[in-house]
Amino acid sequence: MERSFMKAAAVRPKEKDSARLIDVDLPDPGDDEVLVKVHSVGLDGTDKEIFDGVYGTPPSGEEILIPGHESLGRVEGIGKDVKSFRPGEMVVATVRRPDGCINCQAGEYDMCLLGDYRERGIKGLHGFLSEYYLEKEDFLIKVPEDLGELAVLLEPMSVAEKAVRMAFRVQERLTWRPEVAMVTGTGSLGLLTAMLLRLRGLEVLSVDRSDDDYKAKIFSELGVLHFNTKRTELHDIPKVVGKQIDLIVEETGSSTVALHSIMIVGTNGVVVLASITGGEKRMEICSDCFNQGLVLGNRAVVGTVNAHRLDFERGISDLLAIEERWPGSLSKLITARYPLEDFKEAFSSMKDNIKVVIDFNGPSRG
Ligand code: BGC
Ligand code: ZN
Repeated sequence: MERSFMKAAAVRPKEKDSARLIDVDLPDPGDDEVLVKVHSVGLDGTDKEIFDGVYGTPPSGEEILIPGHESLGRVEGIGKDVKSFRPGEMVVATVRRPDGCINCQAGEYDMCLLGDYRERGIKGLHGFLSEYYLEKEDFLIKVPEDLGELAVLLEPMSVAEKAVRMAFRVQERLTWRPEVAMVTGTGSLGLLTAMLLRLRGLEVLSVDRSDDDYKAKIFSELGVLHFNTKRTELHDIPKVVGKQIDLIVEETGSSTVALHSIMIVGTNGVVVLASITGGEKRMEICSDCFNQGLVLGNRAVVGTVNAHRLDFERGISDLLAIEERWPGSLSKLITARYPLEDFKEAFSSMKDNIKVVIDFNGPSRG
């Protein structure tokens, strides 16, 4: 007899040490649903916060949440009304699901106005850390076989794509010929953003606080100039490079770095803030100087979260372009793989890794 259940990772959101492996019913696709067999799931800072019991919301009426929102899978089955997917195709699911607001209704659910959106694996909907999941066609992205396992990086890449798109869109306010970009934070998102900005032809500076030889090699392959803020203070960097910074994408996860980055961007420059900072950290600033700097320098600051479907689509072509220009660089970002059974270990290993991936096929350990 065929089995009727599957394995999944689960947490009780906002409860410490609640993570465990559970059995849940194998899903059966409705007429308009696609059944996807999960190949791999990447973990990020949001997942870690959910795992640590400080973030996340279960689906309404339930106590547990299946986390995981960076997925790669293959279509296993389709309902009778599904038009654009066939079994065997490789797919990545988007994360956010719309509410009734004008932006969501216009397909811009990354720009949700009301805040009643849901997010798979994060807010009100189960995620992808299970052997299978169901999804409607509208929220699935078909990925080319050429991309192979690297497609598990598509969701974080979509977030980087939106951040860069926001910057260029905002800068349509003037004649803008950016030369130097800076990425603060060198986690997987920071590294993907740096790759994207190099691809767009910019000089790229990366900034973090660690001495990591492994990352240093990646930076030099990409032609990224790296600064460690333990040795060079953030506000000295423009002086050291002898040029103003035209664009900053802030992805450290630190609100103080975010505020500092606004203070160092060049005249007519733009700062894109992408760090989610759940705490209550405070800092004292010279509000006159802060305001004066923004006003007299025509500086722009824009926040960004999540991604539009278009960002996933652009993400596919840019991942392929990165792979062509710097072969092997993307796979260097995936530094550990764990089977689903070891998902707790996988979360614990995140601090020592760039991208940890749960691999549903290979039993290979970290
Ligand atoms: C995800 C986004 C999501 C955000 C806020 C990020 O980790 O990549 O898709 O919108 O968290 O929940
Ligand atoms: Zn909305």
